[in-house]
Amino acid sequence: MFQAIKNFLLDLFFPKKCLNCGKNGAYICNSCLDKIEIIPNNKCPFCNRPVPNTFICEKCREKHFLDRLIWATPYSNPLIKELIRVFKYHFIKELAKPLSKLLIKSLENISNIVIVPIPLHERRLKERDFNQAELLAKEIAEHYSLPLETGVLKRKRAVTPQAQIKDHKTRKTNIKGIFEIDPKFTKKCLDKKQNLLKDKTIILIDDVITTGATLSEAAKVLKCAGAKEIWGLVVAKG
Ligand SMILES: [Zn+2]
Ligand SMILES: [Zn+2]
Repeated sequence: MFQAIKNFLLDLFFPKKCLNCGKNGAYICNSCLDKIEIIPNNKCPFCNRPVPNTFICEKCREKHFLDRLIWATPYSNPLIKELIRVFKYHFIKELAKPLSKLLIKSLENISNIVIVPIPLHERRLKERDFNQAELLAKEIAEHYSLPLETGVLKRKRAVTPQAQIKDHKTRKTNIKGIFEIDPKFTKKCLDKKQNLLKDKTIILIDDVITTGATLSEAAKVLKCAGAKEIWGLVVAKG
């Protein structure tokens, strides 16, 4: 019942029209989605050195605990910015499908990988009702038939959203030490056969990367827990 009322109100205030061309039926029509350019990731996202596609240079790999970063398109694209804004702040869940199509376009075939979304703090999840990164992660896991681990990473406390902080240094301190591995999961880790992280490659999923501080913090604890390689996968890079 609640969902029905919510859908009714959404249709009333947010009619299902393409945010780019105005065509009825979806928030982004297929032809406008196809026009969004997928960018080759041939520069290190942290220092701009040329690198083989999607890799992070050796120096930055050590510092940021991330081995690769796959991003579909620049955040400066006004249509992408609008799609992400509506997805996140107007709670339009169904944008997870078209946005994850952009992720799939920028990925090669992947296997033997665990998918982990960047979590929200429980309190914020209650306020928002859904975690946008988790919705994207679900689509990716389904598409490639990969295991999805939504419970492994936890936020220890709620912090000011990174998007509200402009300064790079403050973003870094704001997020420092924020993630931990769920203790339930660590117990499971003791049994080597059941340890889902040990020597695994993990793809961390988020909607946008700006300074990379959030992805780096998450990658750090996952590596501590035994993961071999961490890749970041995001729709847009700021
Ligand atoms: Zn359109
Ligand atoms: Zn670099």
